[in-house]
Amino acid sequence: MIAGGPALRTAFLGALLGAPLAAEPHLVLLSVDTLRADAVGVYGADDARTPAIDALAAAGILFGDAQTTIGKTGPAFASIFTSLYPPTHGARRNAQRMRTDIPVLAEILSEAGYEAAAFISNWTLRADLVGLDRGFDHYDEEFNQARHAVGVMERHADDVARAAERWLSRRAAEPDRSGRPLFLWVHFSDPHGPYLERRGFTPALPPKEERSAGWQRRWRYQSEVNYVDHWLGRLSEAIGELLPGPRFTLFLSDHGESMGEHNYWGHGKNVHWPNARIPMVLSGPGLPAGVEIQAPVGVIDVLPTVLALLGIQPPPDLEGRSLVPTGGKAEAAPRPRFVIGDRHSALLGKARRSAPYVNPLQISMELDGAKVLHDFSKRQTVYFDLTVDPREENPLSRPPVELVPPLGRRLVNWYRALPKYEARSSTVLSEEDVKQLKSLGYID
Ligand SMILES: [Zn+2]
Repeated sequence: MIAGGPALRTAFLGALLGAPLAAEPHLVLLSVDTLRADAVGVYGADDARTPAIDALAAAGILFGDAQTTIGKTGPAFASIFTSLYPPTHGARRNAQRMRTDIPVLAEILSEAGYEAAAFISNWTLRADLVGLDRGFDHYDEEFNQARHAVGVMERHADDVARAAERWLSRRAAEPDRSGRPLFLWVHFSDPHGPYLERRGFTPALPPKEERSAGWQRRWRYQSEVNYVDHWLGRLSEAIGELLPGPRFTLFLSDHGESMGEHNYWGHGKNVHWPNARIPMVLSGPGLPAGVEIQAPVGVIDVLPTVLALLGIQPPPDLEGRSLVPTGGKAEAAPRPRFVIGDRHSALLGKARRSAPYVNPLQISMELDGAKVLHDFSKRQTVYFDLTVDPREENPLSRPPVELVPPLGRRLVNWYRALPKYEARSSTVLSEEDVKQLKSLGYID
């Protein structure tokens, strides 16, 4: 919802791209954990104070309908970095390691001559767990904050932003390094539960008559979003000063957050829109400013799109597609989007190595304004007509659109054809880790 800007129904950026660049551009990935699209000002949140994200959108392309693959941090980032759904990349649950035989974004960029640095803030992204550090020269995972008062497993936005800024200013002082293109990934985690009240960033209190159940939690969550936006803005300024040259910037979240919708608070276990829908913004040389793309896209498209923008050949067998067209017929065809909901607990140790593949809790597919959802535990399939029921509140027993093959059959076919890779590598969690994760409910 960019005021006065054009809104495009096509998903493709090709017509928008300008002339080739003189220097190899940097790539900056800024991500915020657990950020609902509708908590961001430019996505229509009235009580949001998110000037930094809104400014990124004003300087680039806003994806009005972007989705994740799963509402879990490790598995979702593995999808972002590989363009594969979780059963294919292997990190289906948190703390589970992704396959080591598939290319990941940082590794591809590193081979293309990029220096790569990451600053993370959430335990599930630890190098020894999901394995996303592959290809990074610098992977900063210093945590200093306890979540739920157990275990030091994250750090707040001020510390993440300052760590990245310090590193960037040291790099800028070394001419050998600062001449190389950089892939910089900075991940903020503050909106993840528990929601803290951030003084100075709280939205106005809702009038008494509008205070529905759980309003304090929503209010505190929004204060975390406003707080993280402040530090994202500070970091964006620092990047502007310390990283000269052409630069593509991608902003996104790994998943959303249910706030009581479908009787659920949190993320990961179901496939409904509050979990699936994410904010996503892309800017850079040759791309227009202040444009909204309304066509369905997702985190699954990030890797091929970014590589196309940087002029790097993508690896084969990706499950997403580039939003920069190559002229092929397939890219114009409507394309379904899938979401997986799975148990909260992580798969660990012996159980993980010996356990056979188990079905997740839910899977869904969305195509042509319709959604089909299969719940494995209830052995139930329901449909939603998103054209009249975008909040997925009225389940139907039959598909609202006539498709050949039918929607439900397509979901089954997709799920059956997935490789369902079972990771074999060992977990590197200490006894202390296991104790902490047990107390958080992350381990059965
Ligand atoms: Zn997350």
